[in-house]
Amino acid sequence: MINVGVVGYGTIGKRVADAVMLQDDMKLAGIVAHSYNFKIMAASLKGIRIFSLGNRELLEKNGIKVEGDFDSLLDSADIIVDATPGGLGKENKEKYYIKKDVKAVFQGGEKADVGESSFVAQVNYDDALNKRYVRVVSCNTTGLSRTINALDRAFGVVNVNATLIRRAADPGESRKGPINALVPTLELPSHHGPDVKTVIPGIEIFTTAIVASTTLMHIHTLSVEVRKEVEREDVLKVLRKAPRIRIVSKEERINSTAEIIEFARDLGRGRGDMPEVCIWKEGIGVNGRSIFLIQAVHQESIVVPENIDAIRAMSGVPFESSFKKTNESLRIE
Ligand code: NAD
Repeated sequence: MINVGVVGYGTIGKRVADAVMLQDDMKLAGIVAHSYNFKIMAASLKGIRIFSLGNRELLEKNGIKVEGDFDSLLDSADIIVDATPGGLGKENKEKYYIKKDVKAVFQGGEKADVGESSFVAQVNYDDALNKRYVRVVSCNTTGLSRTINALDRAFGVVNVNATLIRRAADPGESRKGPINALVPTLELPSHHGPDVKTVIPGIEIFTTAIVASTTLMHIHTLSVEVRKEVEREDVLKVLRKAPRIRIVSKEERINSTAEIIEFARDLGRGRGDMPEVCIWKEGIGVNGRSIFLIQAVHQESIVVPENIDAIRAMSGVPFESSFKKTNESLRIE
C-alpha cells in the first residue's frame, strides 16, 4: 500500500486526493489545510484526514478535526503530491521533503528542474521509475505531448506549430480575468513549446498563446509536419487508438467546449471532469505531409491520471500495471 499525502488542496490537489482514494494499492494519508475554506470543510465532511500548517486553532474553532501538523503528515506518507501554487513546490522540496527524506510529485507550475524527470505517462513513464522527485507537466503540455507522441510514433514528426487559446481562470475562481478581452502572450515561443521538449526531447515545436475570457477548457490548433505523406483516415485511426485521447464530433452535436463539459457531466464522472484530450473528427485535415487538428484540454482534470501514474512509477510499479489500473479506476478511455 502506497501512503500518499496531498499538500495544496485546490483545483488539482482535491482531484488527486479523490483519485488516490479510488486506487486499491494507495491510501490517502491526509491533506494539509493551508487555510480554512469551503474546500477544507468539504474534505472534512468526506472523512479525509486533515493536517494543520500553523493554524490548528483556527481549524478546530471551525469544527475541523485536526489529525496532526505538517510534519506528522510527512512522517506518515511515502509520497507527497505537492499541488501548491507555482514556485512553492520547489520551496517545500528544499525546506521539508529533502529533510524528511520523502518522495514528491510536483506540478506544471514548477520549473522543470524541481524534478529528476518531467512526466506524461503514455510518453515517458519509465523515466520516472523509482525516482524521488518527478514533475507532472502542465495541462497544456500534457495535452500537446499526448497528441504529438501518438503522431510521432505512427508517422515520425518533423516539426510542430501550435497555437493555444487558454482559459482565463478555473470555474471556481472569481478574481482572475480578463472578463472581456483576448490577451496575446507576448513571449515567443510561449513557454509551452520548450516545456513539451522536457517530455519529448528533440522534438521541433514552436507555440504561441492567447488568453480568452472563458473558464471551461483550453483549445489548441496544431499543424504537424510528418516524414511521409499521410491519409486523413490513417491519422484518425491513430488518434482513435491512442489512450487518453477522445475523438469528438459534430455528429454528436459537440460543437464547442461547452458541449464537451456537458457530455462529461452526463457521463457522471466526479466533478464533470474530462481527463482525455478531445480532438474534433471534423477538425482533422491533411495536406501532403502536414496534419492539422483542433483539440480541447480540460485543465482541471487532465493531469489527475498523470499524478496517479507518477506515484506508481516512483514506487517501482511497471507501466503496464499502472496505466490500465488508473484508467479503469477513473473510467478513462
Ligand atoms: P489552486 O490555487 O487551485 O490550489 C492551490 C492550493 O494550495 C490552495 O488551496 C492554497 O490554499 C494551497 N496553498 C497555498 N500555499 C500553500 C502552502 N504553503 N502549503 C500548503 N498549501 C498551500 O492551484 P491549482 O490550480 O490547483 O494549481 C496547483 C499546481 O498545479 C500549480 O503548479 C499549477 O500550475 C498546476 N496546474 C494547474 C492547473 C489548473 O488549470 N488549475 C492545471 C494543471 C496544472
